[in-house]
Amino acid sequence: MGKVILDSFGLYSDDIISTEKLDPFLVSVSNQYLKTTLYHNSMHGADVTQSLCLYFLNSNAEEICQSLVLDLLGILISALGHDLAHPGLTNPFHINSSSELAITYNDVSCLENFHTSTLFRTIRKPETDIFEKLSVPDYKAIRKRMIGNILATDMANHGKIMTLIKSRIAINKAENKTKFELLSGNEKTKFEEQQSLFDFLIHAADLAHNTKLFNISLKWVELLTEEFWLQGDKEKSMNLPVSFLCDRDDYNIPQSQVGFIKGFIIPTFDCLVDIFPTLKFTMNNAKTNLKRWERLVSKGRLKGWTPEKTKQVNYKKKMILFSAILSNNEKNNVVNKTMFKRKSGNVNSLSHALQVKEERKENNKENPNEKAEKKIKDGKNKIQRPNIIMKRKNNDKKINIQRFNKFK
Ligand SMILES: [Zn+2]
Repeated sequence: MGKVILDSFGLYSDDIISTEKLDPFLVSVSNQYLKTTLYHNSMHGADVTQSLCLYFLNSNAEEICQSLVLDLLGILISALGHDLAHPGLTNPFHINSSSELAITYNDVSCLENFHTSTLFRTIRKPETDIFEKLSVPDYKAIRKRMIGNILATDMANHGKIMTLIKSRIAINKAENKTKFELLSGNEKTKFEEQQSLFDFLIHAADLAHNTKLFNISLKWVELLTEEFWLQGDKEKSMNLPVSFLCDRDDYNIPQSQVGFIKGFIIPTFDCLVDIFPTLKFTMNNAKTNLKRWERLVSKGRLKGWTPEKTKQVNYKKKMILFSAILSNNEKNNVVNKTMFKRKSGNVNSLSHALQVKEERKENNKENPNEKAEKKIKDGKNKIQRPNIIMKRKNNDKKINIQRFNKFK
């Protein structure tokens, strides 16, 4: 999947990454996600990356973010590794138990700092160094971008991210802009302005299961609830305060979902659609899901609602079932592709988004003369993506040594 995604953005090229290191890198990332963690495992990493791709492929996000190659590469690799080696325990657990992670990161975004550092430890290993061909300035730029992206996935930063993005939307509305624009400024402020959008996009993608079809979202909710409850059991056994949503004896899933969707999902995706109107399908799904959860609340399926008690979770069976649902959904979207035209904004799967991209490519196969004419006509407006300093040096080994000495 990682290869397909990078390829769909034109990033699977030796001019950008070390393609021979990509497979070992992806295998290593996948293997470092813990199979025993019910929700925050490699499937979640893949799902968040898939959601992010949908946003970029179905909107003008690349243009709005003024993304350069390194920005795009950075956010996709960040998404893949944003929960790397997640132990299935939240930041409050680490802080309350004074765990190794809390001590290492001084209680500040313990998990997110850990995921970032685990990802970069993987990247700096010679056998999985996909960035080995980047020059020192490029490596420094992508590292800065990726640290920002992954730290933005700490839910504790939700308020900060939303306040900033809402203020930018308000400025755009006050100036009657027809499409969202970043504030202009010098290079430093431009980097930060772009980062605020990347932070927002990866944060939205991290919450995106609530905006997928109900049956898909339901499975994610089930896995996350089970992960939380296992933490609650651990907290009880360690005489620690039981964290919010982690007590299996005092939990109301539909009610919590209604509260979460109203309090976090609708405001987040409202802003997403404000900036990228073609992503309206996310909001439509969120509203449908909200109604479904509200019906479950009103039916009285409250406390203890879950298909099974989770102390003895058959993880393997669950994951097989879950994969089957996901692949069925993909198949259905392919079969019903005519129902999911971009025009209606009802796009739910990556396979469909890629298909639409292919169709667009096909449509663009026009007569060479017409094409040349169009090129001249469109020249001024065309976004030039690969415009960043991508200095390839002959002696890659030397660059690596320079680079690591600099960042050691
Ligand atoms: Zn996540």
